[in-house]
Amino acid sequence: METLALGMRWESERPHVLVAACSDGRLQEATDSFLSRALGVRQYDRLYLPGGGGALSASGSDFMRAAEVRRECRFLIEAHGVEHLILLFHGPAAGGPAEAVCADYRRKHSWQRPDQVRAQQEADVRDLLGRRAEFSGGARLSVYRFEVTAAGGLQVAPLHVDEPALRR
Ligand SMILES: [Zn+2]
Repeated sequence: METLALGMRWESERPHVLVAACSDGRLQEATDSFLSRALGVRQYDRLYLPGGGGALSASGSDFMRAAEVRRECRFLIEAHGVEHLILLFHGPAAGGPAEAVCADYRRKHSWQRPDQVRAQQEADVRDLLGRRAEFSGGARLSVYRFEVTAAGGLQVAPLHVDEPALRR
């Protein structure tokens, strides 16, 4: 087996940004594009799991997994000196296609309609904000949902962005 030289340099500098996003590959280019355009961030640390930010919340059903994911997140915050944690959710926009519902939410709430999943994700954000010290330490916190519109477009809705006074 031959080694393949990539012709690129390793960059030792970290942006001190951690993104928790869903593993869904259909959103990865959109995620990179949004973070680079809106926040000027690239080469960010990634915690990719089914559900993304939703994996940190038990959503009323999966307490052991959520607690473990919060521990992993907290580990990265401390080990990499993360100053800004970005939690990403995804799913259909209001009126968007049902097949855009996140697979992790389908697993946790198989009986919910897309609009109920949207409400569940917002409830999970409130749950996470109430326990943020468990997983984000003193890092600034932003939460967004990537939404698929009825026409098949992608948009990003802010669900929570820390006020400047809360930033350190
Ligand atoms: Zn997903």
